Amino acid sequence: MVSRVIPVEDFDLVVFGGTGDLARRKILPGLYRRFLAGQMTAECRIIGAARGELSDDDFRAMIAEAIAEFVPAERQDAEAIAGFLARLRYVAIDAKGDGGWGELKALMRRDVVCAFYFSVAPSLFGDIALRLKQFGIADDNARIVVEKPFGRDLASAKALNATLAQHFHESQIYRIDHYLGKETVQNLMAVRFANILFEPLWKSEYIDHVQITVAETVGVEGRGAYYDKSGAMRDMVQNHMMQLLCLIAMEPPYHFDPDAVRDEKLKVIRALDPVLPQDIVRGQYLAGNGQGGYVEHSENPQSRTESYVALKAHISNWRWKGTPFYLRTGKRLRARASEIAITFREPPHSIFDDATGWRENVLVIRLQPDEGMNMMVMIKEPGPGGMRLTQVPLDMTFADALGPEAEDVPDAYERLIMDVIRGNQTLFMRGDEVEAAWAWTDPIIAGWESRGDKPQGYDSGSSGPEDALMLMHRDGRRWRDIR
Ligand code: NAP
Repeated sequence: MVSRVIPVEDFDLVVFGGTGDLARRKILPGLYRRFLAGQMTAECRIIGAARGELSDDDFRAMIAEAIAEFVPAERQDAEAIAGFLARLRYVAIDAKGDGGWGELKALMRRDVVCAFYFSVAPSLFGDIALRLKQFGIADDNARIVVEKPFGRDLASAKALNATLAQHFHESQIYRIDHYLGKETVQNLMAVRFANILFEPLWKSEYIDHVQITVAETVGVEGRGAYYDKSGAMRDMVQNHMMQLLCLIAMEPPYHFDPDAVRDEKLKVIRALDPVLPQDIVRGQYLAGNGQGGYVEHSENPQSRTESYVALKAHISNWRWKGTPFYLRTGKRLRARASEIAITFREPPHSIFDDATGWRENVLVIRLQPDEGMNMMVMIKEPGPGGMRLTQVPLDMTFADALGPEAEDVPDAYERLIMDVIRGNQTLFMRGDEVEAAWAWTDPIIAGWESRGDKPQGYDSGSSGPEDALMLMHRDGRRWRDIR
C-alpha cells in the first residue's frame, strides 16, 4: 500500500507552555514525526513560549532531548532532527504580563496559517486569549488549541467558553480530546458509515448492550494533587468515554463535515437519561501487588476521589431505547485495555435442536493494545457427531491487515495538530458538546457529594470493585474479561 502523506500549508504555531510536560512528551515530538514524514513545509515555524528565560538554542536543546527521550529510536534521524530544530524559536512570555508579546508579534508571519496551542493551565486561557488580541497577534483567521480539562463542571465550562468567545469565534477554537485522534476511534466512523453490513443492525432491536472499557494498570503516582481535584468521572468519563459513546450511538451525519458530525454527537449527549444512583459504582484502589493505595498518593489521607467508575447509561431515542451502555474505567486494574464491545441479541428462533455452545455475536473494537476489530461469530464445531456450535473470532488486527503502513500512523496528537493546521474541526469538541456533557455529569457528582458517598475499595491489580460486577449481574450480564 502506498503511503499518502499530504503536506499541510505553511504555518506558524505558537506553543504556550512550550517547555512543559505535555509539550516535551507529546506536542513537539509529534511535530517532529510529522516533519520526518514530510508533512510540514521547510518554512513552517514552531515558537515555544513560557516564562523561563531561554534562548532559541536553549529551547532547541531542550526539544532535542525530548525527541531523544520520547521518539522511538528507529524514527530518530539526525538530519531530520537538525532540520526540525532549525524550525524552532522561543519567546519568554508571562501570560499574565505584558512582556514578550511585541517580540512574538514581530516573529509571526501574516501570510501563513497562524495557530496558538494553549498547553498551559486553563486558568491562563483567558489571559492569553486577551493578549493575543490586545497586541494584534491573532486575527480572525487564527486558530487556538485548548487542552483538557475544559472546566470541572458546567458552570466553569460555560465561563471558559464565554471567556474564549470574547476573543475568538467558535470556528477558531479547537478543544482537544486526544481520544478522538486515535486511529481506531476514527475507524468507528469508517466502519459504521462506509459499510452497509453494520448499520441495519445498529439499533436496540438487534443490539443487546454495549460495553465501553478504558482500563489502566498505572495509578496516580506523582499526580495525586491534580487527580484529587478531578477523579475518574471528570478525567475520563465526561470527555473521552462520552466521545466514544457518541461515536457508537450517533445517527449518520449527512456528510463527514465538522458541524454535521458534532451536531449528531450533541444529540446523543442530550438524549442521555440521568444516571440513577444504583446504576453507578465508584471505586478507589487499595494497596496490592506490592504497590501503595490511592490515599498514599493523595495529599489527603481521607480522600474520597474515585479512581474507578462503572455505570449504566440509557439513551432515550428511537434507536437505542432498551439497549444499555455500560461504561467502566479505572486505574491500577489487572490489565491495560481500551475497547468497545457491542453484544448482539439472540437470533429470534433457533433451528438447531442442540443449541449448546451458542453464544452471542460480539463486535469488539480494540483501541489498545493491538488496535483492531474482532467479530465473534458462531460456526459448526468441526468433525462428526452432529451439529454442535462453537464461537470463533473473525479477527482484523489493523497492523496485520494493513502491513507496515499501519505501524507508521500518526499518533493522536500528531494527527490533531495537523487537523488544526488544515482547519478541520471534525475531531474537536464544540463548546455546546462540552457543556452538554457537563450537564449530564454534574448531577452524578453532586449526588455523591450530597450523600457523602465513599468510593468502594478495590485491590490494585484486580478487575475493580465488587459492586461493579453486581451492576452487570443484576441485569443478567457480565463484563468482558480484561487482559
Ligand atoms: P506543566 O508541565 O506544568 O507545564 C506548564 C507550562 O506552562 C510550562 O511550560 C510553564 O513554563 C508554562 N507556564 C506556566 N505559567 C505560565 C505563565 N504564567 N505564562 C506563560 N507560561 C506559563 O503542565 P503540562 O503537564 O505540560 O500541562 C499543560 C496543559 O495541558 C494543562 O492544561 C494540562 O491540564 C493539560 N494536559 C496535560 C497532559 C499531560 O500529559 N501533561 C495531558 C492532558 C492535558 P514556565 O513555568 O517557565 O512559565
